[in-house]
Amino acid sequence: MRAVTIRAHGGPEQVRVDDVPRPRLQGPQDVIVATRAGALNHLDLFVLGGLPGVTHTFPWVMGGDGAGLVETVGEQVTRVKPGDRVLLNPGVSCGGCDFCLGGEQSLCDTYSLLGEHLPGTLAEAVRVPEANCYPVPDTVSWEEAAAYPLAFLTAWRLLATKAQLKAGETVFIWGIGGGVALAALAIAKLLGARTIVTSSSDAKLARAKTLGADACINHRAQDVVQEVRRLT
Ligand SMILES: [Zn+2]
Repeated sequence: MRAVTIRAHGGPEQVRVDDVPRPRLQGPQDVIVATRAGALNHLDLFVLGGLPGVTHTFPWVMGGDGAGLVETVGEQVTRVKPGDRVLLNPGVSCGGCDFCLGGEQSLCDTYSLLGEHLPGTLAEAVRVPEANCYPVPDTVSWEEAAAYPLAFLTAWRLLATKAQLKAGETVFIWGIGGGVALAALAIAKLLGARTIVTSSSDAKLARAKTLGADACINHRAQDVVQEVRRLT
């Protein structure tokens, strides 16, 4: 199958479209997803440059985010069936340790990310546990579904899991242009919080306003501390 791979760590010159073996089912709870869209993250640059303590075998298939159609399923799979539209949670954990059972999957000893520790999503097919497949409604495009997981996982853990954000509280988001920042804005609004966002770009602030930001500060042109004090 075709896949975006690297054959060595380095710069963008290492990235190529390659021909690699198509993944096969390994365990009874595995699912093979025929990818329809993948998304890019800063994670891809970390992997490209090489990460301390993480060893990659080359050619390495890139990509943490993706969405597609379920192609084949292991014999114990019950959550999804061939033909289902799914997006992929890129964080693969054991599902059985105290951390996993307590909802702290990212602390699991075997926690692995697609594209970083496991072959990634920028390929015609990817293998994941069924627990990592989530249904996608027909009204959501492949591109939207693929862009969702890593940024929203990160922002959700920040605001909901760690900060336990509640309605009526105020969230300050520095630099509203990035994926995690935009996900944080959407989640903060969902939870009923008030949002103050910053950017050096008036165009990005105007866009954030249309996405529900309550107050916008240009951090090049305005005194951020003074503005936040005035707004709170
Ligand atoms: Zn675990």
